[in-house]
Amino acid sequence: MIPPMNRRFLLVRRPLGIPVPDDFALVETAMPVLPPGGLIVRNHYASLDPAQRGWMDDAPSYMPPIPLGDAVRAATLGVVHASDNPAFAPGDWVRGAHALEDYSAVPAGSFTRSIDIDAVDRPTLYLSALGGNAMTAYFGLLDIAKPQPGETLLVTGAAGGVGSIVGQIAKIVGCRTIGIAGGAEKCDRLLRDFGFDAAIDYKGKAVAELAEEIRKVAPRGLDMLFENVGGTVMDAALLNLAQGARVVLCGLISEYNAPERIGIRNLWQVLVQRATIHGMIVADYIPRFAEATDDIRRWLAEGKLHVEEDVQDGLETAYPAFMRLFSGANRGKQILRIA
Ligand code: NAP
Repeated sequence: MIPPMNRRFLLVRRPLGIPVPDDFALVETAMPVLPPGGLIVRNHYASLDPAQRGWMDDAPSYMPPIPLGDAVRAATLGVVHASDNPAFAPGDWVRGAHALEDYSAVPAGSFTRSIDIDAVDRPTLYLSALGGNAMTAYFGLLDIAKPQPGETLLVTGAAGGVGSIVGQIAKIVGCRTIGIAGGAEKCDRLLRDFGFDAAIDYKGKAVAELAEEIRKVAPRGLDMLFENVGGTVMDAALLNLAQGARVVLCGLISEYNAPERIGIRNLWQVLVQRATIHGMIVADYIPRFAEATDDIRRWLAEGKLHVEEDVQDGLETAYPAFMRLFSGANRGKQILRIA
């Protein structure tokens, strides 16, 4: 029998600004070798995340840069193809930090965990409602912002994988929610599908205009800001902080492809309003994921959480699928089907 080949989506050049197709190459290689004590995983689905853009830069971060010539790092869901580890058998479903490739060699001791595929109606839930985005939303909101019933929360990037879940959890705990997103259609979805109390379209608006629109729907100010975007959107939000506001700095997607950092101009509002800004990295919460999973499963069962997934097909579409995150084309959690 001819052994299967391994298609790998490589980073071959560090993007300057917006990534272009020539920064990547899809190649066919031999199957990886089973590492001692490790696994070979057949990847079925991959999570496409704005964070991957940061890992493509050779800059200090919370993770090392993706080495040039290596497959693009990604959280994936897959099936154990071969195992040298007694905790995993061929055929087991697992998730972990693997790469955009058909087969990943997973060394012993890595963060790869078995998942119960029978407990969900579709495997992709482990990348959406039960995945990193949902964990980010859950801990960023409940552990860092610590919402109280009746408080007002503004979520930027509100129609996306993280933002849509933040808004819904905030409603579950009794907050008033305002979402900012790009375009009328996404704003309609914020109100209709994700239960936001108010929605604001940021497209084409300067800081002053956006700040005024936020003021109209939050005249007493924002008790919490869940920040996914940065730039003018964050600057407008900062002008509306209530005294003692908590800002969760989750992401700054408007800067990820900028040739140089745009920066925030209204930081002085943090001082004026005695606010706090708290940066978060979801990986710090891995030991507590089970807590969030229990709550999220219950909310899903009770119909309190609506989760959208945007599944694009095929490793050969990895580049355009990834770029949907930056054009705003994605509708919900961006996922790539590999197998
Ligand atoms: P997402 O929101 O599903 O998709 C990205 C969205 O960002 C796009 O749909 C687009 O929405 C918006 N966007 C893209 N370029 C923009 C720009 N230049 N200006 C304003 N908005 C822009 O992605 P996600 O995976 O849920 O991630 C959302 C944020 O959370 C990102 O900043 C990401 O880095 C961050 N994050 C952080 C952690 C952590 O541990 N800290 C973990 C996961 C994600 P519009 O159409 O509304 O513009």
